[in-house]
Amino acid sequence: MSALWHGFADMGAVERDGAFVIARGEGAYVYDQSGARYLDATAGLWFANVGHGRAEIADAVAAQLREIAHYSNFGDLAEAPTRELAERLATIAPVPGSKIFFTSGGSDAIDTAAKLARRYWHQVGRPEKTIVVGRERAYHGMHVAGTALAGLPLNREGYGELMPDARTVAWDDAKALLALIEEVGAEHIAAFFCEPIIGAGGVYLPPEGYLNEVRRICHDAGILFVTDEVVTGFGRIGGSWFASSRFDLRPDIMTTAKGLTSGYLPMGAVFVAPELAEPFFGGGVWWRHGYTYGGHAASAVAALVNLDIIERENLLAEAARLERTLHEKLAPLAAHPRVAEVRSGLGAVAAVQLADPAEAPAFVKELRAQGVSSRAAGQGAMQVSPPFVMTDAQVDELAAAFTRALG
Ligand code: PMP
Repeated sequence: MSALWHGFADMGAVERDGAFVIARGEGAYVYDQSGARYLDATAGLWFANVGHGRAEIADAVAAQLREIAHYSNFGDLAEAPTRELAERLATIAPVPGSKIFFTSGGSDAIDTAAKLARRYWHQVGRPEKTIVVGRERAYHGMHVAGTALAGLPLNREGYGELMPDARTVAWDDAKALLALIEEVGAEHIAAFFCEPIIGAGGVYLPPEGYLNEVRRICHDAGILFVTDEVVTGFGRIGGSWFASSRFDLRPDIMTTAKGLTSGYLPMGAVFVAPELAEPFFGGGVWWRHGYTYGGHAASAVAALVNLDIIERENLLAEAARLERTLHEKLAPLAAHPRVAEVRSGLGAVAAVQLADPAEAPAFVKELRAQGVSSRAAGQGAMQVSPPFVMTDAQVDELAAAFTRALG
């Protein structure tokens, strides 16, 4: 028994069977309290892009904590590492000249984006543009706006109406967005939110051409285009910093977190295209929004060193290598009768979809017994989103463990 209430958990089962306590990590491996080693198939919750146990980040963060942990960036206050990080992010932003607004994590980033989109239209004299549109299967964090925007009905159940003017369209068909625009009118729609790869909702890759098509539709209709790159950002898409860069999506707003610090400390960042920021920069406090820990100085230091590591070790290229390796080495698992399909081929992301989603909790434990830590996304989609330092030999080890666990 423990006082800890886990997120997204069957707490009855946790109390009955106990918790799986991770004590340590190194590279693509994590270790439990008994010292047993597991390949980290998921990079924690999609965040440990540079792998675990980087003393370099720990040392830099410790040095910052000794100077000052954090103060504030409200009003005219700021901290040097936070300013430096914003400059650095602006240089890799998919839209040149972007402004960077820091948050404590991904859910904050999404709610910031939803508010900013509406407030932008208010600011330019179009306050009737309030509808925010998300997609079925999408996950946009667990704050109120993000839960309302996402396309996972179970997560919305039992709270009453979370947010007025949130609508959902099919995840894979640009015509569904056109139909909604037809139905409610572009003059009432503030923004369309889009995960380049559907992540927590089950790992679904976008149909060919889909992302550019919805981007064009939004542009033509005067609807803000928001990419949620909390999962795909900072290299996870493979070969590029962001999916928005890889597909030249030029988002009006882009939300990020996770890989920004590789999870060494919590932090999110919202990238805002210059045209969108402009009406807020002319004098007056029009953006009454901010988080105590937004731009936390120690988190900013962790992010800066994390970006150094990604660049120095060419980890964007390593993620591109993993895109190919995961695709090649996990594909044979699709032949197993317990597997419905394997989804892979875009970014360092894959899913082994179990034929019977009800088997997922047991399968997670079977995988652990074979030395792999994974989890089920969506309905029984076993998540594979490793740290970029996972070698091809370790991917072989991972695939072999899946084969053994499938029995
Ligand atoms: N958006 C996406 C696409 C995510 O995957 C997540 C987290 N899994 C979030 C937003 C929310 O991020 P956080 O859990 O850091 O609040």
